[in-house]
Order: sequence, then structure tokens, then C-alpha cells
Amino acid sequence: MQAEIVSVGSELLLGQVVDTNAATIARHLAEVGLDLFYKTTVGDNLGRAAAILRAALGRSDVVITTGGLGPTADDVTREAIAEATGRPLVFVPELLGQIEAFFRARGFTLSPSNRRQAFIPEGAIPVENPVGTAPAFIVEVGGRALIALPGVPREMEHLVLTRVIPYLRERYGLQAVIVSRLLRVAGLGESRIGEILGDFMERGANPTVGTMAHLGQVDIRIAAKAKDAVEAQALIAPVEAEIRRRLGDLIFGVDGQTLEGVVAGRLEARDLRLALLEIGTGGLVAERLTGVPAAASRVQGLVLGTAEAGERLGLPARGSAPELARAVRRWGQADLGAAVLLGPPEEAGDGPIHPATLAVASAAETAAREFRFGGDLRQVRIRAAIMALDLLRRALAP
Ligand code: ATP
Ligand code: MG
Repeated sequence: MQAEIVSVGSELLLGQVVDTNAATIARHLAEVGLDLFYKTTVGDNLGRAAAILRAALGRSDVVITTGGLGPTADDVTREAIAEATGRPLVFVPELLGQIEAFFRARGFTLSPSNRRQAFIPEGAIPVENPVGTAPAFIVEVGGRALIALPGVPREMEHLVLTRVIPYLRERYGLQAVIVSRLLRVAGLGESRIGEILGDFMERGANPTVGTMAHLGQVDIRIAAKAKDAVEAQALIAPVEAEIRRRLGDLIFGVDGQTLEGVVAGRLEARDLRLALLEIGTGGLVAERLTGVPAAASRVQGLVLGTAEAGERLGLPARGSAPELARAVRRWGQADLGAAVLLGPPEEAGDGPIHPATLAVASAAETAAREFRFGGDLRQVRIRAAIMALDLLRRALAP
């Protein structure tokens, strides 16, 4: 079974709109284990769209189009499919009824051009679109299926999830599911993780293990293909356990968890308050932490451009990060004090380096770390904020 996607729209070729629909469809196809072999983009041109659809139907079992189903003359997908499949467009009164009802419910009046949307290729299976006006449809050609979806991303994804995937499962007896688990790591580079987990990263393994690097963070994705979710989980569990054994507390969270979310959760669970002093980061740590509702009322802080600016607040101007963490803890009468000092750039051989020192102080102890970050200021600030959040996470470890 192989599938392909044809995105229709001149705006996509002009670079005015990014083709997120193809990526969304691709992800959902992977989840049912359908192999995707091609993604093509074609403009709003009847001849070229028909040609690419003919080629697609010649080589793929399932062809999914997105876009160009609208009511205007530049929406060519309907005609292109009619040409490519040799099925003339026919008027389907029930579709017009659905479109009318959609408009009526919203107090709009139907324009004559909307009638165009009630035409679909002869013999096609109409797919009602409850979230928009462009009805979708499926044309079965021999054992193959051509599925036409609207371009509006929200409508398209709704139809994929509620109609297309169930149709494909049923029609082709697809049983596979792909379940994935993300393990999130801060403070260890992707190449180092690659070395530690290299034996898991062989091609064709099940589950597959791969890494995705973000600024200051790496996600490890464990993805298992199986006949159902329970079996997939069973494949993932031992691999996850071994990865956790190797990386230990470098893993700060799973799936959608964030560093600030973990820190906020621990502050809340232990009913602690945090005072932050940020020098040179523009308040990025506070921005991230206070964005989590659980932490919003537990965090207060000072954001300074340079260390000297702290003198007027009674902070030691030349204080080290540990001294400043203890000072801000007293200043805020908080359980924990954290200081982030991002120094001005030092010229190194290949571009500026920002020295950063971080410290977290509780009543009993102070932990500190030092870094030297390269890159532009925005990147350096993000890295410093991530490492500060990670130091806080460790200071709050259960
Ligand atoms: P409608 O009935 O709403 O006109 P349609 O099927 O004609 O639907 P288009 O007119 O091609 O769809 O696109 C509608 C909107 O969706 C546009 O704003 C367009 O930018 C966006 N869009 C279209 N195709 C894609 C795509 N592949 N990825 C992301 N956005 C898209
Ligand atoms: Mg269009």
C-alpha cells in the first residue's frame, strides 16, 4: 500500500503559504502505517493539476489532494480530478442541501458560485464537511482511491481524522498504529546522545529511536509500529527503560512536558516560593516560569541589564552567582533564590562567547554551574534560561 499527497494552490508555489497540510496528512498516514512515497505541489492550473493526478493514480494506491475545492473559478481540483479519472462532474442535490444548511445556520446567503461545490465526479462518494462549505469526496478507481480534501487546514484535518482515516482503515484493512513517546533532555548535545543511544538508532528497528534537536534541548522519540496501541506500548516500554537507565536525570520530562512546567509543578507540590535574579537574560527565565499558572504566584524576580544595577537594590555589585542567589532569596523572603548572570560577550577566535554563571540557593545549600555559550544574543539567552531552569529542576528533585 502506498500513498501520495498532491497539494493544490498557486499560493503554495509562490511561497506565500507554507504547505502545512501535506505535513499534517503525512503524520496521520504514518499513524495508520500507510507508506507515503510522494508529495507534490501544483498551482491552480487545470492542465498541470490533471497531469499530476494522472501520474499519481498511475503509481499510488491512495492519492490525497488538498485545496482548490472552493467555489471560485481558480479552484481547479474538481475539474482536474474529473479529467484525470474520466468521470464527468455531476450535480448532487444533497450536497447543495448541506451547503445551504451550513450557510443558513450562520445567517449567510448562498452565492450562485457555491452551487459549483455541489458538483462532484460521477460515482464519487461525497464526504460531508460539517466544519466548512467545501464538501470533500472520494473517487474509487479500480482498487485505488483518490480523496479530495479542502485547503483550509482546520477543515482538512477534521476530515482526515473523522472520515479519511476510518475510510482507509476499513477499505484497506489497515490495522497498524504508530505510537510514539518523547523523552526530553536538556543540557546534552544531540551528537553525544547519538553516541550513547547509537545501538537503538539502526534503520528498520521497531521501535525506532531518533533525536530532534531544539535550541538547548533534545527530544528523543521512540516510535513503535504495532497492530494496536497496547502492543505498541509493550514494544516501547523496555526501550524507554533502557534509555532512562543510560541518561538518568538528564531526562527532564516526557511528551508535552516542558522544563518550566516541571519546575512549576515541583514548586507547587512542595509549596515553595522562588525569588529570581536575572542579569543579562532580559527576564527570560521569569517569562517562561510565570507563563505556567502553577508558578505564577510563586515566582518573583528582578531583571537587570548589568550586575552594577543591583547595587541600589542592596545586592552585591561584584557578587558571584551563589552570593547573588542567596541575596535575592533574602530580598524576596523566598524559600529558593536563583541567580542567572549572563556576562557581556568576550571576543574569542570564532565569534563572541558569553560567559554564564547560574546558582540556586535554598536555606541549606547552594548549587552553581558555569557555561560559555557561543551564538547570537537571542540564542545565548535561551540557552542560559534553559540551563537555569534545569538547575532549578535539579535543586527541586524529589
Ligand atoms: P475553500 O472552500 O475554503 O475555498 P479550498 O479547498 O478551495 O477551500 P483553498 O482555497 O485552496 O481551499 O485554500 C483555503 C485556505 O487554506 C487558504 O487560506 C490557503 O492559504 C489555505 N491552504 C490551502 N492549501 C494549504 C496547504 N496545503 N497548507 C496550508 N494551508 C493551505
Ligand atoms: Mg486555492
